[in-house]
Amino acid sequence: MEFLPLFHNLRGRRVLVVGGGEIALRKSRLLADAGAVLRVVAPAIEPQLCELVNSSGGEQVLRGYVEADLDGCGLVIAATDDEPLNAQVSADAHRRCVPVNVVDAPALCSVIFPAIVDRSPLIVAISSGGDAPVLARLIRAKIETWIPSTYGQLAGLAARFRSQVKTLFPDVQQRRGFWEDVFQGPIADRQLAGQGAEAERLLEAKINGEATLTTGEVYLVGAGPGDPDLLTFRALRLMQQADVVLYDRLVAPAILELCRRDAERIYVGKRRADHAVPQDQINQQLVDLAKQGKRVVRLKGGDPFIFGRGGEEIEELAAHGIPFQVVPGITAASGCAAYAGIPLTHRDHAQSVRFVTGHLKDGTSNLPWNDLVAPAQTLVFYMGLIGLPIICEQLIAHGRSADTPAALIQQGTTSNQRVFTGTLKDLPTLVAKHEVHAPTLVIVGEVVLLREKLAWFEGAQSQV
Ligand code: SAH
Repeated sequence: MEFLPLFHNLRGRRVLVVGGGEIALRKSRLLADAGAVLRVVAPAIEPQLCELVNSSGGEQVLRGYVEADLDGCGLVIAATDDEPLNAQVSADAHRRCVPVNVVDAPALCSVIFPAIVDRSPLIVAISSGGDAPVLARLIRAKIETWIPSTYGQLAGLAARFRSQVKTLFPDVQQRRGFWEDVFQGPIADRQLAGQGAEAERLLEAKINGEATLTTGEVYLVGAGPGDPDLLTFRALRLMQQADVVLYDRLVAPAILELCRRDAERIYVGKRRADHAVPQDQINQQLVDLAKQGKRVVRLKGGDPFIFGRGGEEIEELAAHGIPFQVVPGITAASGCAAYAGIPLTHRDHAQSVRFVTGHLKDGTSNLPWNDLVAPAQTLVFYMGLIGLPIICEQLIAHGRSADTPAALIQQGTTSNQRVFTGTLKDLPTLVAKHEVHAPTLVIVGEVVLLREKLAWFEGAQSQV
């Protein structure tokens, strides 16, 4: 091991920064975050750095460096582009046994800055010993996605109960087991979901030996329109914790793959005979599984609250007092529009956008056609394929021009994406001609023309 990682308490300690430019500023920000009192020495100092120095209660010294600047300092950073000067600072610091960092010169350093993942009080530091800082930064980016941004709050929760738990379990092994349960179970889930008071209540109950933690939890998760890269960090984390996953037809296999390997998977979409599992049966199944203490992910295509019946499912959970979380997903309109190069709004063409169900209950009567033909608005029809001839006919009959541009996007955001563009008048014929099938999204409005310039994603086949 070239370098031993240690965490440095700089609160209230004086740190010398030699240099007054951009790099000195970057390092000084970190030092100030850690509570250091800055002494910045340079013939000229950036205004932002001056502010930082002042707010740290430190001092600016507007001249060249002299060795006496090291007096009283617990750490020194050389951040100038003057190599001999950096070497001089390093030599002086080594002689005085003051830890020194010279930016971009590992050979002159006795300490180096790691890449940092800050979930204070939890800190992850990554170092390549100065050999490949870019590699360290890439690893940092990966870790950033694994650790929820609120993870540090778990440490805060533990801190509040630490001494109580220590008294309760004098045995280290037992104590460790207790905290492992807390950090990997429903108490941590509550805290990470932003329900700190509930987490605290559950932790207190656990300390008092009350058995209140038998109920599981349901995560209603938006899986996005198909491309697994469009999942949110939270969706992925919950999918990897789940004991059971309920999913339907719209959830891409590549996304299902990302669920915990040994999670039970239950398909609740349409069966071969084309009968979907009735909604109330799904609602009941969620309740039953949670009551068995399972962590259940209910995976929904797109966003659970947009034509996803997510509301109905959690109403049932709420009625049974079952804890749940809702994780938004990228809805088909956003995903398909982005991947087809069709901005849904545009200052010149559309000031608003409407998401409309194309599922026509009694032929034509259930859509507000007069509102839908208002100018300068984009219409996005979900589930619009079967009713498409009626939709186009009614829009034209109510006054929208038959030449209004329109697009069909099939299996948007996936490698099978197909996009066909035309006008309100010829859209239904395009469906027949190209054998377009579900899931397909219909976009109507002038913005569709922008695709000619903005298309960027190549699916299986594009354009007419
Ligand atoms: N909750 C989902 C919508 C469910 S309704 C969401 O927010 O996206 C189902 C309809 O969504 C389909 O009929 C289709 O119109 C649309 N849809 C969903 N995923 C799609 C995709 N990848 N490509 C095209 N349309 C899609």
